[in-house]
Amino acid sequence: MELVAQRILNLSESETLAMTRRCRELAAEGINVINLSIGEPDFNTPENIKEAAIQAIHDNKTHYPPVPGYLELRKAICHKLKRDNNLDYKPEQIVVSTGAKHSIANVIISLVNAGEEVILPAPYWVSYKEMVKLARGVAVFVPATVENDFKILPQQLEAAITPKTKVILYSSPCNPTGSVYSRDELRALAEVVARHPEVILISDEIYELINFDCHHESIAQFDFIRNQVVVVNGVSKGFAMTGWRLGYMAAPLWIAKACDKLQGQMTSATSSISQYAAIEAMMTDPDQSAEIRNMIFTFRQRRNKMLEMLKTVPGFKTNVPKGAFYYFPDVTSYYGKRNGQKVIENAGNLADYLLETAHVAVVPGDAFGNPDCIRISYATSMELLVEAVDRIKKALGELK
Ligand code: PMP
Repeated sequence: MELVAQRILNLSESETLAMTRRCRELAAEGINVINLSIGEPDFNTPENIKEAAIQAIHDNKTHYPPVPGYLELRKAICHKLKRDNNLDYKPEQIVVSTGAKHSIANVIISLVNAGEEVILPAPYWVSYKEMVKLARGVAVFVPATVENDFKILPQQLEAAITPKTKVILYSSPCNPTGSVYSRDELRALAEVVARHPEVILISDEIYELINFDCHHESIAQFDFIRNQVVVVNGVSKGFAMTGWRLGYMAAPLWIAKACDKLQGQMTSATSSISQYAAIEAMMTDPDQSAEIRNMIFTFRQRRNKMLEMLKTVPGFKTNVPKGAFYYFPDVTSYYGKRNGQKVIENAGNLADYLLETAHVAVVPGDAFGNPDCIRISYATSMELLVEAVDRIKKALGELK
């Protein structure tokens, strides 16, 4: 007898993790699958950060750390926020958690009461919607389209806010679209938020460093909404540290305290070793790190090459991503086409078709709040990307 609680039955399985599993299954059958469903850098953690972690083990930094993270780490995060973003935070306003995913979950669970609304500009990152469900909140979607570079307009945000709105949550650079809001665009959104002082904005900046065309802009820079903003960031993407599981938030003190209380009962602090590695990461100026600069340079080259290649795929409509490592083309032009028995009725069918026929794994856009797109990650080698796009073109060419 299975007696799983309703709150878990209500949750959807992560589409990205499901695709990773299907890739593994096909690979186990001996099929050469190219996995473009990946959500992590294909780079290793920089040497100086690994060394700091090894030193922490030798120094026996193996006991329970304080729940919100070592003071030294929270000071290092404040230093980073000042150096890179010109933001002033105190260590008491920082809570370190087991990944940025955990930080976002902490804020949602700490703020959202049953029935309160959370505005999610769509496309959004898969887990946002599920976290809102867990908190028994109501997700309100504000759609952005490829024509508008997948960014919402201030008037759309204003129209979506109701007396029940508690939180607005978005990422820039964005997973899955790679879109980056400019300073002026952020200011316009901030002006809307300022008109609703009871609303909290969570700014997910985990892709800060994977930003190709400009310096990162945080919406927290606008002083007139500082007491309404929670900045979430971490080491997973920019420092190639997905497995270390460390993220953080910088928040108004009352929110930091609530999250500290929640975390104290649920998970306690993240790994002490990861925290020492993160101190080193935070004290590393990304502009001065050869490894980080090389990673970003490589992602930019791939972004450019992929754009060139995707332009040659008939019917894929895409924006030009300015950050992260994804393309999110609209594939509606394939709807109604078929290859023998296989008919493409939606982007999910197309993703299945590409996996089965081209042996290329992508993620259907449904899970990200846009059922007409697919997410293609370019966090893999140029050689494999070229091969993957060739295979995709060939498979699509067989659809009539
Ligand atoms: N936010 C976004 C937009 C992401 O894409 C991810 C990772 N896929 C996260 C948060 C979570 O990152 P972390 O590994 O720090 O939990």
